[in-house]
Amino acid sequence: MPVVDAFTYNANPGRVIFGAGTLDRLPAEVERLGLSRVLVVATPAQESDARSLAEKIGARCAGVFAGARMHTPVDVTETAMAVVTRDRVDGLVAVGGGSTTGLAKALALRTDLPQIVAPTTYAGSEMTPILGETRDGRKVTQSSPKILPEVVIYDVDLTLTLPTSQSVTSGMNAIAHAVEALYTRDANPLISMLAENGIAALAEGLPGVAANPQDRGARSRALYGAWLCGICLGSVGMALHHKLCHTIGGMFDLPHAETHTAILPHAVAYNAPAVPAAMEKVARALRVREAAAGLYDLAASLGAQMALREFGMSPTRIDAAVEAALANPYWNPRPLEREPLRELLRAACDGTRPAL
Ligand code: NAD
Repeated sequence: MPVVDAFTYNANPGRVIFGAGTLDRLPAEVERLGLSRVLVVATPAQESDARSLAEKIGARCAGVFAGARMHTPVDVTETAMAVVTRDRVDGLVAVGGGSTTGLAKALALRTDLPQIVAPTTYAGSEMTPILGETRDGRKVTQSSPKILPEVVIYDVDLTLTLPTSQSVTSGMNAIAHAVEALYTRDANPLISMLAENGIAALAEGLPGVAANPQDRGARSRALYGAWLCGICLGSVGMALHHKLCHTIGGMFDLPHAETHTAILPHAVAYNAPAVPAAMEKVARALRVREAAAGLYDLAASLGAQMALREFGMSPTRIDAAVEAALANPYWNPRPLEREPLRELLRAACDGTRPAL
């Protein structure tokens, strides 16, 4: 009988409420945390969601701040901080995707206020103690227990309005967390179990969502998968794929989930020879023969744009992107080499299917 490999496992504390219509429980959760002056945060596009939540919370709500922006710019956080201080806010409620969760986390980092997050995409940020903030165009990531939300309310109904194309790319963003969790240096059996289940749930749910965005069954599979993948991101380290997305996303100002979608099959193809057992698990979860091509086919078959050049990454900048990736060395199961990395980025730029 083979021995169980040695491992270290970190659990993040947190309360999770999952289902359809679960947002009705928000007032009770605010009360349970003993809060009486919560601030509801959202993006401008989701202000009406925030206002209806504020109404639900009633007298325990101090107001709404609907100014969250992509990549958590520090100036937005500072504006929101002034509201927190002025209105003597004692808790935060976020309704939205990773950008909105990012603002709540940035406020919690500065104040240690408790957060209740209601995610409306599959990005997974709500399950992590990680925050990426942008100052003067540079995104800096940090981790702290203060950043981790105390309560997460997954309400399937909130995701029904997420447009199909965004649902697909956001779902691939979630899958990316689980894929890298399977081959990271600090992989462990519990997280690997969650990762495989998370990929499988999204691979089952996303085609149903693309076929009918109102399909609650498909939406709930996808959101359940996103939760599992978010736990993976919050619990173990990531590798080449996430670092590349971070580096070139910043360099070329690329959209977050779309960049993950286009790069993932190629980052996986790059790492595949070094991590055959993880590749087997990804392929099994996707119900395909080969992981990298399977990931590409899943996204492309659901209409995702697979060529990064369509989002503004010029092929003439590939060498600069490779140098940036190499300048900031990090752990990866396969060593980083200039020419194969160039090929990886060329393929992602052109959106070609990884060869078997
Ligand atoms: P997003 O939060 O930027 O949302 C994109 C747009 O879609 C916004 O205008 C939003 O209001 C709208 N939207 C969101 N949900 C909707 C819904 N259900 N219906 C209609 N419109 C909706 O997108 P995202 O991909 O969720 O988040 C990306 C950001 O999150 C990036 O800045 C990324 O770095 C960050 N992120 C952080 C972590 C972490 O652990 N720190 C993890 C994942 C992502």
